[in-house]
Amino acid sequence: MKTIGVIGGMSWESSAEYYRMLNGETKARLGGHHNARSLMATVDFAEIEALQRAGDWDALGVLMAQAARQLERGGADIVLLATNTMHRVCAAIEAAITIPFLHIADPTGAALRAASVTRVGLLGTRYTMEQDFYVGRLRDVHGIEAIVPEASERDDVHRIIYDELCHGVVQAASRGVYQRVIESLAARGAQGVILGCTEITLLIGADDSALPVFDTTALHAKAAVDWSLKQSAGTTDA
Ligand code: GLU
Repeated sequence: MKTIGVIGGMSWESSAEYYRMLNGETKARLGGHHNARSLMATVDFAEIEALQRAGDWDALGVLMAQAARQLERGGADIVLLATNTMHRVCAAIEAAITIPFLHIADPTGAALRAASVTRVGLLGTRYTMEQDFYVGRLRDVHGIEAIVPEASERDDVHRIIYDELCHGVVQAASRGVYQRVIESLAARGAQGVILGCTEITLLIGADDSALPVFDTTALHAKAAVDWSLKQSAGTTDA
C-alpha cells in the first residue's frame, strides 16, 4: 500500500480521529493486523490559530508548505491536510510538493453528488463558512450550492469549535446548539449538512442530526485509504 502523509495538529483532537479512521478503514478492508502506512507532520496549533485571527494567510501558507515538504521528504506518496479551514492556502501546498494533494472538499463533493444533494448546509469555522475558498470549490468543481447558518448561529458554531472541541471538550448543550442550527438549515432548504470542520465529528453523528450528515473527516480519511489501496492494487506491497 502507499504511504499517506497527514498535516496534523489543527487541532490534534481531530488528527487523532484521522489516525483512528485511516487505520480502522485499512484494517476493515485488508483484515488481520493491517494498518495504514502513514506519516503525520504535526504543527503547533497555537501559532496557527494566532495567525488565522491576524488574517495572515500568507504566513500560514508558508507553514503548510513546509509541513507538506517534510512529508514528501519523509516518503509520503500523497498529502492530506487534516483541517477544512487551512484549505484556504491549499495552493501553497500544491506548489510545494510533487506528490498528489487530496483536497478535503472533493470526497465530500463526490459523496454529496452520489446522494443527489444539490443544496447543502455547511458548518465549520467562521473562515470556512464566510470566505469563498470552500463554498466556491463546492460550487465550481462539484456544482453544489452550500448555504451557511445566520450570523449569530455562525458565532456559536465557531466558538464551540475553538473553545471546546479543539480542547477535546464535548458537551451535550453544545450538541443541542448544533442540532438547532441544523434544523434551521433544513428549514431553509438544505438537503444535507456538511460537518465542515474536522472536530465536529466529535460532537455530531448521523443520529444527532435532522439532516443526512457528510462528515469531512471520515470522508477524507476513507478517500485516502481508497487511493492508497487502489494505487497499489495488482502490486505485491499491499
Ligand atoms: N479543524 C478545523 C477545521 O477543519 C478547525 C481548526 C483549524 O483552524 O484548522 O476547519
